[in-house]
Amino acid sequence: MEDKLKIGILSLGCCRNLVDSENILGRLWHKGYQITDIENAEVGIINTCAFIDDAKNESIGHILDLVELKKEGRLKKIIVYGCLAQRYKEKLRKEFPEVDAFVGCVSLNHSRKSFYLTPRHYKYLKICEGCINNCSYCIIPKIKGGLKSLEIDSVINRIKYFDRNRVSEVNIIGQDITGYGIDLYGKNSLHFLLKKILKEVRHIGWLRLLYLYPSRVNEELLDSIKNHPGICKYIDLPLQHINARILKLMGRKNSPQDIYKLIDKIRKKIPQAAIRTSFIVGFPSETKGEFRQLVKFIREVKFERLGVFTYSRQEDTKAYSLKEQIPQKEKSERFNTIMSVQQEISRENNKKLLGKTLDVLIDCQEKGAYLARSEYDAPEVDGLVYVNSRKKLMPGEFKKVRIVDTLEYDLVAETLN
Ligand code: SF4
Repeated sequence: MEDKLKIGILSLGCCRNLVDSENILGRLWHKGYQITDIENAEVGIINTCAFIDDAKNESIGHILDLVELKKEGRLKKIIVYGCLAQRYKEKLRKEFPEVDAFVGCVSLNHSRKSFYLTPRHYKYLKICEGCINNCSYCIIPKIKGGLKSLEIDSVINRIKYFDRNRVSEVNIIGQDITGYGIDLYGKNSLHFLLKKILKEVRHIGWLRLLYLYPSRVNEELLDSIKNHPGICKYIDLPLQHINARILKLMGRKNSPQDIYKLIDKIRKKIPQAAIRTSFIVGFPSETKGEFRQLVKFIREVKFERLGVFTYSRQEDTKAYSLKEQIPQKEKSERFNTIMSVQQEISRENNKKLLGKTLDVLIDCQEKGAYLARSEYDAPEVDGLVYVNSRKKLMPGEFKKVRIVDTLEYDLVAETLN
């Protein structure tokens, strides 16, 4: 590529991809390229996702858009990066001759300077990549490989940088951050890393842990979350199911009893914590009875935050060849059932907050109200707090508010001072 070319990136998929995109842009900037948005770029990079079919289709749609831009002469080169390129390089090469390069996932340490794609006040910090859990439905270990943790020094340098730059919230991410350190130090070292991180933090208000694999959530980790006001009381714990047979078929390492025990432990140790989870419905051979068991479990536990996915059949996974695939219509019905059950739970949970005070982080202003989040809401996936304030508020500011109205997933509040 010539020097000073203008480069734009389109980042699809999860926040882990976003961090990769930020690092790619940081590196290119160091090499002298100009960074711009995709509409004004000469070289368009698309960082793709291939986790489930919807994500693949979305990636393909965007590649087609870039191909159009190239045909119109508005783009000189197209580079397709990431999970989709890693999985289907050969097929894609034939399908899209207009694309100049396909680059699979490469291990990216943090660049010296990243080009952040999130607002100034919150950031994602990836501490590991890949996964050793090998859930039978998941293609990630095939795409990303086994666990690769970042060296502690590299994580600490990034935290110091965020802290110096007055970032308000740092979301610590990975495919499974409870695996952090197993590859480097022979044991799960997340709580140790957190201790080191907390020593460096002066200005960051919230550290949020995203994706905890249930069977590796240990006492030390829960104690860290409980004892440090700087760590959000937000337990992101994807459980996927509660039926013993389905959990086994999914290759999950915890039994229903383990899950019940863990939830009990969390509720007792950190009663104010919001537990976020996700479930897969319509896994091959999931009977109506097993599905009802899942619904009952959700009604019992009343998770504060919950996401649900319909099973997406992925080639090269163990679950792909399982018999008794569930028809799409049935999967969608199961999805809708859980969504409406959770809507009710969320509405009831929110009602209990009426009149209470909460600390929120201001994200932005929209149509007269400030959009904010409490420590119980992760960016982009959870609810919002709409804040009315007579005084001007700034993104990144922490504010104490009183809840004056509640909606299904969101809250309405006013400032206290
Ligand atoms: S924990 Fe399971 S679902 Fe999550 S990335 Fe690893 S293999 Fe995939």
